[in-house]
Amino acid sequence: MQQKSILITGASRGIGAETARLFAREGYAVALNYNRSEKQALALAHQLQEEGYRVLPVRADVSDPVQVQKMVDIVLENFCQLDTLLCNAGVGAQGLFTDLTYDAWRTLFSVNLDGVFHCSQAVLPHFVHRKAGQIITVSSIWGMVGASCEVAYSASKAAVIGLTKALAKELGPSNIRVNCVAPGVIETEMNGHLSQEDLVALRDETPLGRMGTAHDVAETILFLASEKGRFYTGQVLSPNGGFVI
Ligand code: NAP
Repeated sequence: MQQKSILITGASRGIGAETARLFAREGYAVALNYNRSEKQALALAHQLQEEGYRVLPVRADVSDPVQVQKMVDIVLENFCQLDTLLCNAGVGAQGLFTDLTYDAWRTLFSVNLDGVFHCSQAVLPHFVHRKAGQIITVSSIWGMVGASCEVAYSASKAAVIGLTKALAKELGPSNIRVNCVAPGVIETEMNGHLSQEDLVALRDETPLGRMGTAHDVAETILFLASEKGRFYTGQVLSPNGGFVI
């Protein structure tokens, strides 16, 4: 039987890196995309390869369609087949909306939303040809309810949810599933700017009494990608400890 495979964007750190570990250990061939954090990405790939897993590190800036197409070509050349695309790469930005420049707004959208567009367009000819495959996008609870001082981030993540739902309807007849994971506050470098006080407040506001881990999110992604998630499409699953219901 052909080994299942996944392409994970933004797999050098945080949620993407943990998802790469989990999927490799679940028997998937993993294409591990990174952009700036080459050292971390190659170290992770090397560690997983040493453990006997099939891992392919591949650099691409997801906001650049030419780099994305090259990345997908490399993945298909190496794996021959791709089963799942995980659009996880993302960037955050904090500040008052009135101070937000158009350049900063565009930068955020070019990664968080255009990145999903470029990666999905690059894999879809392969998925449609096979009448199989699935796309999992990564949004955020802030894309569901909005965050003060994170208007661009919230708007880009809300757009990812809209893209997911619409694309799921379009691709369902081709047997391609499209779902979204919208995590709550997760312990990664993305939240490195939060003060100790903010972190305590966030924990206190979370019914389950803790922040999420990258592993909590990776398990949700694995569920959607697996056979157990076969009747899910156009859905948003939000591992958030009850923070947003
Ligand atoms: P993180 O630790 O900051 O990691 C971000 C990842 O995205 C890195 O691997 C980074 O790669 C990659 N990336 C950024 N820009 C890229 C680009 N232009 N091209 C390719 N890769 C790029 O963040 P995280 O917390 O793991 O976040 C992962 C996803 O979850 C993001 O979409 C984020 O919005 C979402 N999310 C996070 C939280 C949270 O609380 N942490 C909550 C909800 C949703 P390089 O370093 O190699 O450039």
